[in-house]
Amino acid sequence: MDVKRPPQMRYCTKCVYPASSAVPLAFGENGVCSGCRVHEQNKHINWNERAKILKKIIEKYKSKDNSNYDCLIPVSGGKDSYFQTYYITKILGLKPLLVTYDGNNYLEVGIRNRNRMREVFNVDHLIFGPSIDVLKKLNKKCFMKMGDMNWHAHCGIYTYPVQIAIKMNIPLIIWGEHGYTDLGGMYSMYDLPEMTKKFTREHACRGYDWTNMVDKEMGIREQDLLWAKYPSDEDLEQKDIRGIFIGFYTYWDANAHGKKMIEEFGFETSPEPFDRTYRRMSNLDDMHENGIHDYMKYIKFGYGRATDHVCKDIRGGYLTREEGIKLVQKYDHVKPRDLKRWLKYVDMTEEEFDRIADTFRDRRVWWKNEKGEWIKDNIWNKNKQF
Ligand SMILES: [Zn+2]
Repeated sequence: MDVKRPPQMRYCTKCVYPASSAVPLAFGENGVCSGCRVHEQNKHINWNERAKILKKIIEKYKSKDNSNYDCLIPVSGGKDSYFQTYYITKILGLKPLLVTYDGNNYLEVGIRNRNRMREVFNVDHLIFGPSIDVLKKLNKKCFMKMGDMNWHAHCGIYTYPVQIAIKMNIPLIIWGEHGYTDLGGMYSMYDLPEMTKKFTREHACRGYDWTNMVDKEMGIREQDLLWAKYPSDEDLEQKDIRGIFIGFYTYWDANAHGKKMIEEFGFETSPEPFDRTYRRMSNLDDMHENGIHDYMKYIKFGYGRATDHVCKDIRGGYLTREEGIKLVQKYDHVKPRDLKRWLKYVDMTEEEFDRIADTFRDRRVWWKNEKGEWIKDNIWNKNKQF
C-alpha cells in the first residue's frame, strides 16, 4: 500500500497538542491552541460572581418543600465526581441523587472509591449497568465500527442520568467540567454552555445513537438498548430539565481537587502504575480507558492520554513543556498489557485487532516507511517552527 507523507504535523507552542487532536483545536497568535487560550480566561473570571449565578440557578430548581432531591449528579466515582459531590453537599448544602452508569470494567480501586461516596458525603446513589452480554457485543461492534470500544460508556454516562432526571422529576443535573472546553477550548469560559442532545449525539457519542447499534446478526435488540435512548425533546421541555457544568461556576484545578479528596475523603489513586500515562488518579472506572481504549486514540490521532494529561498539567503550572514532552515520548506509543484481557472479553485475536485498528489511522498523521512500518511526526524531533 502506498501511503504518502502528509504535511508536517503542527503542535501547540504552549502545550503539546497536535493539530490532529480528537477535540478540534484552532491555532491563534504565536501558534497557541484554543485549549490553552480558553484556559487562560480562568485567571480573569470573577469567581465570586459565578458562585452567585450558580446559587440563583439552584434556588430556582431545588426542592422547595424537601419532598424530592435538590439535583442529580452523574458520577463515575472518580476524583471529579468526589469534588462535584463535595461542593454540592458540603459547600452548597444540597441533597443530591448520585447516578452512575456501570460499564462492567471498573478497577477494584474504582469500585472502592465509588462505594465510599455514600458514606463520606451522606448521599443516596443509584448505580445502573446494562447486560454484560450486550456490553461485550457493543465493545466489539463499536471497535469495528468507529475504533472506540467504549461508545457504550460515552452514551450511558451522558444518557442514563438524563432518563432518571425525567423519571424522578429532578430538573437540575449538575455535571463536572466541560471536557471539550477544558481540552480544546470548544466554548469560551464566558459562554456558560449547558447540556444538549446535540452535543451528546455529535460529540460524546461520536455521531451515533442507539438506532445504529441494533444488530440482528450480533443479537443486539432495541430492548437491549433502552438505557441508551436519549429522552425526547417533549419530555425534556415538559419536565424543564436543565444540565449545567459546575466547572463554569467554580475554578477547576483537578490536581488540587484530587489532593483535597485524597486527604479529606479517603479517595484512593491506583496502587499500580498505568502503561500509557503517568497519572494514577484518573479513569479508574474502566480498566481499558487508560489502556487499549486510549491506545486506539494513538492509532487514530497519533497521541494518547499522556498528551492529554501533560497539556492539563502544563496549563495548570504543574509541568514545563520540556518535562511534558519527555512524558509524551515515554508513554504515547506504548501498546498496553490490558489488550490481552480485552481480546478475551470480546473473543478476538490480536492479529484481528491490529488489522482493524490500522483501518482507523488518520492519514493526516500516519504514513509508511520503506519497510512498510507506520510512522508519524513527533513533537520531540520536529524541525520546522511555526
Ligand atoms: Zn495548547
